[in-house]
Amino acid sequence: MFFKSLIGLLTQINLLFLTMVFCTSCENVDVEDSVGQNSEFARFKNVDFLSLKSDCFSLSSTHSMQFEIYQSLFLSNDSPYNFPGNLSPEKKRQLFEEIREGYFTKSVFLDQEIKKYYHNFAHAMDVMITTHVLLKSGGAVFLTQDEQAMLVLAALAHDARHTGLMNSFLIKAEHEYARKFEHESLQEKQSLLFLLGLLESKQLIPPNKDSKIRKFLSEVILFTDMKKHKEQLQKVKKVLPVVLDELRNARGDKNSDITLGTTSVDLHKGIDLSSRLDEGTRFLIGSFILHCADISNPGKDWEQSERWAVLVLNEFFTQGDFEKQNGMQVSMNCDREKTSIPESQLGFGKYIIKELYDILLQLNHEAGSQFQENFLANQLRWTNLRADEKLNGTRYLPNFRPPSIEGGWNGKE
Ligand SMILES: [Zn+2]
Repeated sequence: MFFKSLIGLLTQINLLFLTMVFCTSCENVDVEDSVGQNSEFARFKNVDFLSLKSDCFSLSSTHSMQFEIYQSLFLSNDSPYNFPGNLSPEKKRQLFEEIREGYFTKSVFLDQEIKKYYHNFAHAMDVMITTHVLLKSGGAVFLTQDEQAMLVLAALAHDARHTGLMNSFLIKAEHEYARKFEHESLQEKQSLLFLLGLLESKQLIPPNKDSKIRKFLSEVILFTDMKKHKEQLQKVKKVLPVVLDELRNARGDKNSDITLGTTSVDLHKGIDLSSRLDEGTRFLIGSFILHCADISNPGKDWEQSERWAVLVLNEFFTQGDFEKQNGMQVSMNCDREKTSIPESQLGFGKYIIKELYDILLQLNHEAGSQFQENFLANQLRWTNLRADEKLNGTRYLPNFRPPSIEGGWNGKE
C-alpha cells in the first residue's frame, strides 16, 4: 500500500532527524540562562496560582514559560513534587527538555500531511497542570509522595511521540507500531517506552521489570488509551465504597452517612490515605486522575473547552482527508464534510464524560464539582449550537486557534 511504504520511509527519516535534533538540542540548551537571574521565573515561583481556570494555551505559549512551570512543580525549594532517588537539578532539567523533544518529532513524520492540532506539547502542558490541580484539590490524599510526583511527570510525557493519528488508523495502515506493540494501545505503549528509556538513562529507575515506579507509570499511561475507558471505570466503581469508607475513618466521621469526596481541606488537615490503601488501589486511582486530566477539556470553561474541541476535530479531519486520498474507509468523526462538531461533543459528553465526571465527583468533590458545573454549561451551549445547525441547515465552523509553534503546533499560524 502506498501509505504503508510512505510511513515506513518517513519513519526511518524521522529517526534520523530525531537523533540530529536531539544532539543539536543537547548542545544548545543553556540551562543556566533559562533559570538565571534575568529569568521571569519569579512569576511562577509558587504554583498555587494554577487552577482549573488556568489558560493552558497561554501558559504553554513559549518554551521558557513551559520550563518555568515545570521548574515550579519540580525544581524550586517549595516545589510540591520530588522525584524519588537523588536526581540532580541538572538531570531534572534535561528530563524536561527530552520529554518536550518527544512532542516535536512529528513535523517530518508524514511530511506536511498530518498536523498535530491536538496531540502537541500544549496538550501535554494542559494535562500536567490539570493533574497537579486534581491532586492539590484533594486527589493527593490517595497517593504516596513518590506516586504524586510520578503522576505529574507521566502527565507531561503521556502523549510523547504521538503521531497525530488514531491507533486504529495505524493498525489499518500496518504501521510499524502495530507489529511492535501487538495491535493494542500502540501510541500509549510508545509514549511509555519513551519515558521509561529516559528515566533509565538517568538511573531514576532500574532496568528491572519489578520496579514499583515502572509498574505505576505503566498502569497510569496505558490507561490513557480510550479503549480502556470502560474497564477503568468499572474497576474504580468497584473500589470506591472501600476508598470512601477509609476516607470517612481518616476524617473521624465514621458514623456520618454523608459521603463527600476529598477536597483541599483534607490535605490541609494532613489526611493521608496512601498507607491505608493497597498498591493496586492507589495505582488505579492514579490512572483515573490522569485519565480525567487527559479528557478534562469538556470540564473546563467554554473558552478553553471549545478551543480544544475544535482542535481535536481538526486533527481527526486531517486523518479523514488522508484516508479519503488513499481510498481507505473514513473513520468515525473524521469526515470534515459530514461531521457536526456540536453533535460529536454531545455524543462524547453523553457516552464518555458524564459517567467519568460523576465518579470524579464522588472521589474528589472539589475538582469534580467544578468539572460538573462547566460540563453541564458546555453541553447546553453545544445543544443550542446543534439546534442552530438543524434550524439553518448549516454547519458550525468556528475559526480554529492552534497553540503556538513553541506549544507544538506544526502547521501555519
Ligand atoms: Zn492525551
